[in-house]
Amino acid sequence: MSSEIRDRYVFAPSAQAALPVRGTDRLFPVRRIYCVARNYAAHAVEMGADPTRELPFFFQKNPDNLVLDGLFPYPSATSDLHHEIELVVALAGGGRDIPAGRALDHIYGYAVGLDMTRRDLQNEAKQHGRPWEAGKAFEHSAPCSPLVPASEIGHPSAGRVALSVNGELRQKGDLDQLIWKVPEIIAYLSGLFELAAGDLIFTGTPSGVGPVRRGDLLEGSVEGVGTFAVRVV
Ligand code: MN
Repeated sequence: MSSEIRDRYVFAPSAQAALPVRGTDRLFPVRRIYCVARNYAAHAVEMGADPTRELPFFFQKNPDNLVLDGLFPYPSATSDLHHEIELVVALAGGGRDIPAGRALDHIYGYAVGLDMTRRDLQNEAKQHGRPWEAGKAFEHSAPCSPLVPASEIGHPSAGRVALSVNGELRQKGDLDQLIWKVPEIIAYLSGLFELAAGDLIFTGTPSGVGPVRRGDLLEGSVEGVGTFAVRVV
């Protein structure tokens, strides 16, 4: 660290969270992580919610919750830790009130992510009308694959989304089942928040979520984007 930085801050600033870009030695610096809830009808039903197209709603994780080394440490304070496989969108630009028709222009690329969830704490929060952070935004709660630039793969709007645990298929859906499509998500989010380069959006999970245990191997895939594996330790 330079002496200038050492002199300016009262302690060393945290490291910049970042995702590797597949096939390169470059990093995508992460600014914020937004997550869409209940964006596949079959998952909304399994969560006891109405699958009709109500307005989307969002929660956030923290950039330093990202896990890139393939190891997911089982978290504290839960006995019902769930996997949620999701398409992740990475923004190269942002702004406010982005029209859906221009939304794809702001996308840098895509990744495969896991929205790991302390379901017991999330359910308790829902029952009491409390925020979801304890269920969603804990340490290591966002394992994510390297990013793949849209310049290489385009903008996937259909394709299988799947997750297996120890070789057994648990979650299966298709991007064409997203209730709110990626351009609509960006348009709606940008009416609530000022989006910017570095923002990630977890777009929601298909049905089949369930608990994991230490030692489990989670293998996720989004057709056209990639695959990745995480070991629960
Ligand atoms: Mn989710």
